[in-house]
Amino acid sequence: MKTAKGDTPSGSRPAPVISDDLIQRVWNGARIDAAEARACYYLPLEELGVLADRRRRLARKNAWQGQGNRIATYLVDRNVNYTNVCNVYCKFCAFYRTEKDGDAYVITREELDRKIEETLELGGTQILMQGGHHPKLNLDWYLELLNHIRDIFPQINIHAFSPSEFIHFRDLFDLPLEDLIARFRDAGLGSIPGGGGEILVDRVRRRISPLKAMSDDWLEVMDTAHRLGLKSSATMMFGHVETLDDRIEHLDRIRTQQDRSGGFTAFIAWTFQSENTKLKADSVSAGEYLRMQALSRIYLDNIPNVQSSWVTQGPEIGQIALRYGANDLGSVMIEENVVSQAGTTFRLTVADMKRLIADAGYEPRQRDNWYRLVDGPAVAPASPALP
Ligand code: SF4
Repeated sequence: MKTAKGDTPSGSRPAPVISDDLIQRVWNGARIDAAEARACYYLPLEELGVLADRRRRLARKNAWQGQGNRIATYLVDRNVNYTNVCNVYCKFCAFYRTEKDGDAYVITREELDRKIEETLELGGTQILMQGGHHPKLNLDWYLELLNHIRDIFPQINIHAFSPSEFIHFRDLFDLPLEDLIARFRDAGLGSIPGGGGEILVDRVRRRISPLKAMSDDWLEVMDTAHRLGLKSSATMMFGHVETLDDRIEHLDRIRTQQDRSGGFTAFIAWTFQSENTKLKADSVSAGEYLRMQALSRIYLDNIPNVQSSWVTQGPEIGQIALRYGANDLGSVMIEENVVSQAGTTFRLTVADMKRLIADAGYEPRQRDNWYRLVDGPAVAPASPALP
């Protein structure tokens, strides 16, 4: 079986020894600490996958009228990047432009309306709206944008503005986070994406995105949003300058936050894509990706859903990841601009998503942002007829 040798980021400490007792406790659903997570990471990949699958089963068994382990879900939404103007210059980002660049843009209402109309025509339920940290757009521009979408398309969920954007707004508009997020919520914001989480270790953040929100800021936005009744996702972008300990510290900060505020609906890990960016790093192998996702499912015992990342890993690995702790294939992503700028351009249709899920042995079902099934109730299969 494959071991973690070669699937471990450089600069990480040597592999520890894992005990049978620890494996049994993981199987039973016990919470593990950071040292135990390190030990689990070095298990043979298939063994780690079996444990992650077991934890997924424990986590999902009561979902969807008891059908949680027959079903795997997907979402139909569209990425809308309202501007690519950004003055944060993250080293891993190929998307941002300065105001002076010829291809810098701010979305128009007509363009936005057209994108949402197309999303609805394709059965979409949500837009994921994020953008650069534009130095000049004012508070009214954002509130009017939200009001506009809510008034014209009340059926669409606005999943928008990552924590680092909120930190940018807080500083630019000189408003406390609580007021700011409440005003956005009242204008139509429905939930918050976990973008910009990267690795929640400031030593890492200072190297890859020194001008962006630091770890405490990111968590404070999530804490505030959860207290104000907004749910969010949590993310991790790995495979750049971080060590294994950094990744586990990241998971620990998310788990601690979830214990406190309980508003993370899902966790999504993806790998750094380096093309057209200033940050060079060896690509993360499929094995390392699966290993990290499996460990995340085991460690994050208080987050109900784990999404696999076909956008960065490709459809086949995204599908295999459904056996490594994930219960969701993520979004069809009618439009994706950020990862594609960094050289990764996988595309899937709803039919592709359904086929990938069915071929992995699950019933494919469409869900919304809150993991409610939107294509009918969950129904247990009829018992086979007796001979
Ligand atoms: S990742 Fe976001 S904040 Fe960083 S440069 Fe790109 S657009 Fe700006």
